[in-house]
Amino acid sequence: MDTLAAGEHRGLKAGKLVVLSKNFSGSDRDVQCRFMDAMSLVAKYGKPDYFLIMTCNPYWPEITELLLPGQTHQDRPDIVTRVYHAKLIDFHDFVIKKGFFGKVAAWAHVTEFQKRGLSHEHFLLIMDSSSKLSGPDDFDKYISAELLDEKKCPLLHEFVCKHMMHGPCGVLNRNCGCMQDGACRFRYPKQFSETTEQEKNAYPIYRRRNDGHKVFVRKKWLDNRWVVPYNPTLLMRYNCHINVEVSSSIKGCKYLYKYVFSDLAMNCTSISYMPERAILSTRNEYVDSLNAVMIGKFPENENVYYSHDSVDDDSTNNYPLNFLNSITPNCLPPHELKINVQ
Ligand SMILES: [Zn+2]
Repeated sequence: MDTLAAGEHRGLKAGKLVVLSKNFSGSDRDVQCRFMDAMSLVAKYGKPDYFLIMTCNPYWPEITELLLPGQTHQDRPDIVTRVYHAKLIDFHDFVIKKGFFGKVAAWAHVTEFQKRGLSHEHFLLIMDSSSKLSGPDDFDKYISAELLDEKKCPLLHEFVCKHMMHGPCGVLNRNCGCMQDGACRFRYPKQFSETTEQEKNAYPIYRRRNDGHKVFVRKKWLDNRWVVPYNPTLLMRYNCHINVEVSSSIKGCKYLYKYVFSDLAMNCTSISYMPERAILSTRNEYVDSLNAVMIGKFPENENVYYSHDSVDDDSTNNYPLNFLNSITPNCLPPHELKINVQ
């Protein structure tokens, strides 16, 4: 009450600043610590290899068997979250401890526990060097993005139809939740492709053959172009939406720019736009490469300036010029400094 009373005379004094400790889940300090932990993992073990999203299935028999007559899963969040948690522990055991994809060097995950919608998990796996994916043939071993023969594997086919079909969106349904500015924000339907392909620094194109397989889902006929990439073993084991994708080949910075500095060309002269944005990086070499791409995006002409490096009292030439030009000490610009000047 004292602080409120003071605020009656001076607006600055209203309320009280409280800094929550990192033990308070979701506080700024907690988030900051987790972010730094995740960055240290990447700095030590390299880029993630797999990206997985697993969503709770409220029709798991473990949940439905416990509902009382007349109840739905929405009435019993206690049961839903406990069963989901148990599945997560099993997932951890199967994928990380027992190494379903191979030896896991490091991993990070986050649960989105929303007050509406179902809990889901985002996992990033960084594999040990012995278990890294080497190319499209390896992707096919673990990831599928096609419908299956209903007669050969009826149960798996049923799970793919139930959990792994996107949409329908786009021309089939303009009101789908994924539509943004007239197009699907997840870029469905994907293109047909006879083989899995990997172009440099791009998302892989998974094998989606035009083999005539179709299923009737949510009132529309959908083919392989609508299948969300999955792993058959994990889908069979968990019977829920579980999207598995390869992420090792993507150079994240391309996407970072797009999200952090959207509309750069329009806003780069704005005083408030630039200082509000930053991309944190773990190493100086990454900072330099990020800066180089960033500067290339400014509309003005690029000028290059070189440092003049020399060492006093180096009569025996212990520090050759090319070595001095190559080092990137903290707080000093690189040897070759590119700046865009109007
Ligand atoms: Zn869509």
